[in-house]
Amino acid sequence: MEQIILLCLVSACLSSVQTQKYLFSPSWGPIGYKDRDEHRDGTVMDEIIKTNEFQASRILDGTTSLREGDIAVSAGRRSKVCFARSCLWSKSVDGNVYIAYKLSPEYSEAEKSVIKKGMENIEKGTCVQFVPWTHQQDYIDIQPKSGCWSYLGSRGGRQTLSLQNPDCLQTGVISHEFMHALGFVHEQSRFDRDNYVTIMWPNIWRDRVRNFEKFRTDSLGLPYDYSSIMHFGMYAYSQDGEATIVPKSGKDVKLGQASTLSHIDRMKINKLYKCGDEDDY
Ligand SMILES: [Zn+2]
Repeated sequence: MEQIILLCLVSACLSSVQTQKYLFSPSWGPIGYKDRDEHRDGTVMDEIIKTNEFQASRILDGTTSLREGDIAVSAGRRSKVCFARSCLWSKSVDGNVYIAYKLSPEYSEAEKSVIKKGMENIEKGTCVQFVPWTHQQDYIDIQPKSGCWSYLGSRGGRQTLSLQNPDCLQTGVISHEFMHALGFVHEQSRFDRDNYVTIMWPNIWRDRVRNFEKFRTDSLGLPYDYSSIMHFGMYAYSQDGEATIVPKSGKDVKLGQASTLSHIDRMKINKLYKCGDEDDY
């Protein structure tokens, strides 16, 4: 009898632990998704995932969806993947690539200056220059919509780039979204990525497994860049707090960036847009 009572007590105790786990799981998180704060390694993509999955109230509309977490894709219109060279911004005769932008009046002056810093991050050491819109046919319309996202490359005409206020207003996040607008996808979606990283499929939140697809992108002859601003962090979309991407070259390798472009990111821009003397960068 005593044994039975003990057994009952143990089982009641266990079930209450389960209940607590359930009750105290973050109310804003999807079921099965572990709070990543335990493993915050401060990459730009972690911030974007946090905003797009948990804080953005409604991302896009019925005809537009997000691929890989923050790349906008419209059904019908250029829904095929835009890869390097197929959707470039045009280059000026002086060798620079001038990209016109409009900033929503909803941003304050201080917020506008943070966004400009994110753009300057890209201009540094590259031939890309962002210029305020005057009359240009093709331009980026920066809006505080829901979430941090961008279309891939130049689509022709006006194209939205969303920087939710204030969650996306960090220079690294801003630069990351502009890299998408220039035509770059995430580094770990490179077709040869399996030579450099191991994707830990069982650890990925199952609704987001598709964000880890790989594509036949043009790597521009550049080495795989673990520290690209376009690389997912080690715990991106982890459902159990375990790593989802493990570098093959050792555990000390850090994935992604917190706030700025890597040296290879700048090389990528210059190579894609065929700028300057390659020996200079
Ligand atoms: Zn992205």
